[in-house]
Amino acid sequence: MGWSVKLFSVGGTAVRMHLTFLLLIAWIAAVQWSHSGLQGAISGVVFILVLFACVLLHEFGHIWAARRYGIRTPNVTLLPIGGVAALERMPEKPAQEIVVALAGPAVNLVIALVLAAVLGLRFDPETMSAAALQSNFLAQVAIANVILLVFNLIPAFPMDGGRVLRALLTMWLGYTRGTLVAARVGQALAVGFAILGFMGNPMLVLIAAFIFLAATGEAGDVRVRDATRGSPVTAAMTTAFAVLPVTASADDAFTRFAHSAQRVFPVVDGAGRLRGIATQETLSQAVSRGDGAHSVTELMTADIPTLPVSASLWDAVELLGRGGERWVGVIDNGGRLVGYIDPQNVEDFLARSSKRAEYPGPWSQ
Ligand SMILES: [Zn+2]
Repeated sequence: MGWSVKLFSVGGTAVRMHLTFLLLIAWIAAVQWSHSGLQGAISGVVFILVLFACVLLHEFGHIWAARRYGIRTPNVTLLPIGGVAALERMPEKPAQEIVVALAGPAVNLVIALVLAAVLGLRFDPETMSAAALQSNFLAQVAIANVILLVFNLIPAFPMDGGRVLRALLTMWLGYTRGTLVAARVGQALAVGFAILGFMGNPMLVLIAAFIFLAATGEAGDVRVRDATRGSPVTAAMTTAFAVLPVTASADDAFTRFAHSAQRVFPVVDGAGRLRGIATQETLSQAVSRGDGAHSVTELMTADIPTLPVSASLWDAVELLGRGGERWVGVIDNGGRLVGYIDPQNVEDFLARSSKRAEYPGPWSQ
């Protein structure tokens, strides 16, 4: 993750801090300073640091549980909104996913119970008067851990409770259906939170939006993964297109293709290898500002990632989605360009495959 610095390393996991975390600290310090001076600023910052130490221990709960199943975690990053442990992968067996998901909240439970024991408090809201708690640092930390515990057990992505629900549903319905149903539950909860939030708690509306987006994203991911993992990249790529030689100028390209419907021009060398992609837009802009003599290699986007023809469409989706690439070239065994794929190709493919799923013809059985 960019904009983060490594703090230290525990058992092969680097603990990183996102630089925006410093903004949170500065903000807390400033707010507390204006309310109650230096003393308030110090105790506010100490409280938030202790709180994030608890968040970090929560993440290490996940990390240690995952390690039991041979899954390593290269790093964990502290963000102002919480911690993100980058597990190498999620456990495949639902029972293991449940253990890994619950290990985080279990840490908060243990911390809260230990603090409650230390405080000699019975865990009963009746005995915790607001005034007594406000003045007690350990009680505040204990309460914060209970809030972390409850919040993380909400059965909606991206909370741990959402993973538990998905794993339980997976045992019954399979991974794809299980994820889709879990995502629906998350969306329904988000709508409920939003309604409650509009009755007076704007923070809840924000959380609802966050949950809704996460649930929708998770459902979309699993649908796309399902539809594309079993298909070759060649099933969705553009194959009929004109290419530009590396020796072409913008003028050459423009005069040849000014009236073509093709918008994207792969630039290939003498051996047919992809060197870059020039768009009709950049070419025509170059011509109209008098740079028509410039080589297309100066105007193209270089370093286009490529996949072999044997790759799955899912590989291309990952490059286009998570990798943020605009195009992916597809090459044969000799390294020659045979096609390219962009997000629109993937969308068209998904539209075709979902139509087939919705309207099964006589050929489907
Ligand atoms: Zn967690």
